[in-house]
Amino acid sequence: MINETMYALGANRSCIRDLFEYGCQRAAIVGRENVYDYSLGNPSIPAPPEVNQAIREVLEELDSLAVHGYTSAVGDLGARTAIASDLNDRYAAGVRPGDLFLGCGAAPELISVIRALAVPGAEIMAVAPFFPEYRPFTEANGASFVVVPADVPAFQINLEAVEAAITPNTQAIIINSPNNPSGTVYTADTLGKLAALLTRKSEEIGHPIYIIADEPYRELVYGDAVAPFIPNIYPNTIVCYSYSKSLSLPGERIGYVYVPAQCADHDALYAAIAGAARAAGHVCAPSLMQKVIARCTHLRPDLKAYDENRRLLADGLKAYGYEMAQPDGAFYLFVKAPGGNAAAFSEKAKQKDLLLVPGDGFGCPDYFRICYCVSREMIEKSLPIFGQLIRE
Ligand code: PLP
Repeated sequence: MINETMYALGANRSCIRDLFEYGCQRAAIVGRENVYDYSLGNPSIPAPPEVNQAIREVLEELDSLAVHGYTSAVGDLGARTAIASDLNDRYAAGVRPGDLFLGCGAAPELISVIRALAVPGAEIMAVAPFFPEYRPFTEANGASFVVVPADVPAFQINLEAVEAAITPNTQAIIINSPNNPSGTVYTADTLGKLAALLTRKSEEIGHPIYIIADEPYRELVYGDAVAPFIPNIYPNTIVCYSYSKSLSLPGERIGYVYVPAQCADHDALYAAIAGAARAAGHVCAPSLMQKVIARCTHLRPDLKAYDENRRLLADGLKAYGYEMAQPDGAFYLFVKAPGGNAAAFSEKAKQKDLLLVPGDGFGCPDYFRICYCVSREMIEKSLPIFGQLIRE
């Protein structure tokens, strides 16, 4: 017999993957240059050259057994010390190496944190629009998934809706800023108000409500926007970080969980996260990459190409009359579907080989997502199609 929930998760591909596969099929027929695929969030800026240099140095300088061997389950002390020191330089955060657990990217880290908090009856909230995988990460790991409706059109956080959704079973709220799919960055004002609300409600229900800060896009911010370091605003924040987007290393599976010293039940919480990672077999993140990251914590992405794409698309779409969330971060635009039904609009666009992800899975069925880590030529060629679609 086969577990039905797992079967369904494996057999039903996500809408994003479906679109991507469709794009590959169409490319084989009409040519790659004639398919305008905005579906997948795969970085289009290469990893900084210093990362490849660090890989070469690690291979040349360190003993092969050490490079490729198991590390400690929570990660090499060297890597954790380097990450702590970088976070302290940037945010004066008081991070200790013992507060960090190296993980295989944000996805397994989120699962470990959710699992660590999944007491009987646990509810984990997420703010729409949200990364669709939060739902299976939560429901397959023993907790209920509670959606907080979107704050349209600002796409900050609807605090009244958060308050209304909190129950005595609320264990945590997942927030993701800069946000996939909206591209918005939560402001210090929004986060300060959320912190005040959660502090008040935690007292009322008699246990902490944690923020799970999912931060693969922390460094991807443009213009004057700033992504505040959330543990400095709300002590009960657990950070899930990943180098997938910031250093363009999604295939290398490396990141960390940070449990701040000031977090309620710090030691037990850290141990439970390590225990959940152990139960899932996700300990000992890739050893080579741990050693590389130890040498690369100071690197930041060169955002020029993303920023140019962002402006070109946002300005072009606005000129046609499209409305969208303020695109201050990550590499996504979240655009209101003309006619209000993004699934129908995305289907119409697909007929013109323009691949847009409808917002249903993100909890916003009247918006569609554009992932702009693509070539500039593709944007230039596809803009007139957006123009045709809004006029039809
Ligand atoms: N969280 C968000 C919001 C994402 O967009 C992604 C990947 O696209 C992840 C988590 C998973 O990232 P990782 O590659 O680090 O597992």
